[in-house]
Amino acid sequence: MSDTAEYRPLDGLPAPTLVTRGEQVIHANPALLALLGVGMEEIRDARPLELLARFSPADRSWLEPMHADYTRGATVPDKLWLRVHVTGGQERTYCLRRGSGLRPEDTLLMLVDAEGEASMRRLTEALVEASGELVHCRDEQAVLEMAAEAIHRQGFFVTVLLLEGDALVHGPMRQDPAQVATGEQLPGKPGREVRVPRASMPHLEEVLARRKAVFHHDLFGTLGGMRHDHSIVRALDAPIFVEGVPFGFLSIQGETLTPTSAATLELFARQVGGALENVRHHRSAAARLAELSRLQSELVAQERLTVLGEAAGVVAHEVRNPLGAILNAVAVLKRDKLGTIGTSAVEMLEEEATRLDAMVRDLLDVVRPLEPRPRPLHPGELARRTLELFRERRQLGQVRVSVDEAPDVPTLQADETLLQLALENLLRNAVQASPPRGEVRVVVRGVPEGLSLIVEDEGPGVSPADAQRLFEPFFTTRTTGTGLGLAVVRRVVLAHGGTVSVGQRPGGGARFELRLPLQCEPRPLPPLR
Ligand code: ADP
Repeated sequence: MSDTAEYRPLDGLPAPTLVTRGEQVIHANPALLALLGVGMEEIRDARPLELLARFSPADRSWLEPMHADYTRGATVPDKLWLRVHVTGGQERTYCLRRGSGLRPEDTLLMLVDAEGEASMRRLTEALVEASGELVHCRDEQAVLEMAAEAIHRQGFFVTVLLLEGDALVHGPMRQDPAQVATGEQLPGKPGREVRVPRASMPHLEEVLARRKAVFHHDLFGTLGGMRHDHSIVRALDAPIFVEGVPFGFLSIQGETLTPTSAATLELFARQVGGALENVRHHRSAAARLAELSRLQSELVAQERLTVLGEAAGVVAHEVRNPLGAILNAVAVLKRDKLGTIGTSAVEMLEEEATRLDAMVRDLLDVVRPLEPRPRPLHPGELARRTLELFRERRQLGQVRVSVDEAPDVPTLQADETLLQLALENLLRNAVQASPPRGEVRVVVRGVPEGLSLIVEDEGPGVSPADAQRLFEPFFTTRTTGTGLGLAVVRRVVLAHGGTVSVGQRPGGGARFELRLPLQCEPRPLPPLR
């Protein structure tokens, strides 16, 4: 079949067009021949299906069955989308439209460029897929990096701008390195360190106020007077909101950006906001869970202590009277003349009974409710008096103890008996931990929240693991310890509205610090708190 003159007018059409008569191609316009890179003689007499299948191999799988149906009289859609291999080896999307020819047996087939539509579909698919990935991110930086990468992979440049007070800072970006280098010349530092005042970007403020993205046909025109010597002029500023609060922008540029693709990118910016919300929800849920399990273990520990404390309290009460009787009997015995064996037995009896008595007292201090009775008190004097007591009782051994009192230490409203008890426990521990001839220092000074009382020694110090548990009742690392001293200290300090902490003395050793408010508001402590 030869080319027909009646279809010559189609040669002027820019759209690639083909005419078939029955099963044969009878005419192809120059636009079609140029598109496929073939001559008329190559396709003359070809069957249209063969031709389509040859240049659109990806679609052969559905083209062939459809053609078979068509020859059996089935109706075929007027529009078909095909991926066509064009000259130069590229693939483009076309919409194949069918129309009637000049004779009833003729059919007109026209390829309308649908690459724009196809690229929109690709963009939408890619961004929908990326949105699905975003929800798996567990930190905000990862969300922003992934979003920037997804946009960049679609052929756009992108910068994430983050709101920080009244400034904008750069988040993840995928930009032309040459552009970035030029951009950084002005401020003289990396873009990520530049804080741009929000007031200098009124067009972005407008985006936030309208809560809608803005598409710029000419970005540099929008920025007003900025010289542009490169081809990227189309841009989109899409706002990101997290829980309704402005978070930042996706600032996107690209030659292929159109209002339609901009709308898809704006939707993506919303997905980014949603993914950021998701990260925050996960984080707060994890924090709540951690807090819950902390409270739970605190509750369990508290219950354990309460039971233990109640039992210990009962035992201590029961032991106290017989102990008193034993110590009285010892005093009576000591008045008599005893032999060497008898004297050492009574001394041993007294020593052990006194130790037991001290332990029972500590135990009762831990389990009884504490109710401070504040009176004016000079902390330096209290420290010196306590130290004197230790000297009298010969509890210092060879350890040297000094009191270092700042000149301006204020007077304190506190319960003297209780504070002395706390100080005694700290001093006793410090002396016990000290090496022979070691030095213990008691430092008293004023601090913004009131008074600081430090007891530090040159002993082995406290390991970080032990420091967590030191103030728990019954925690001890000493073979003869009861683990009650620091629990008493903590209770006394809490009852005064203060804090106690343990740390390292510079140069080695432990350092315990009490911080107390000057005006103690007594907080009666129930048993075992
Ligand atoms: P105890 O002295 O009966 O063990 P405490 O409650 O007074 O009970 O102390 C608990 C634990 O804290 C001690 O067993 C010890 O491990 C540690 N500790 C307390 N004071 C010091 C200190 N000054 N240096 C090193 N460790 C200390």
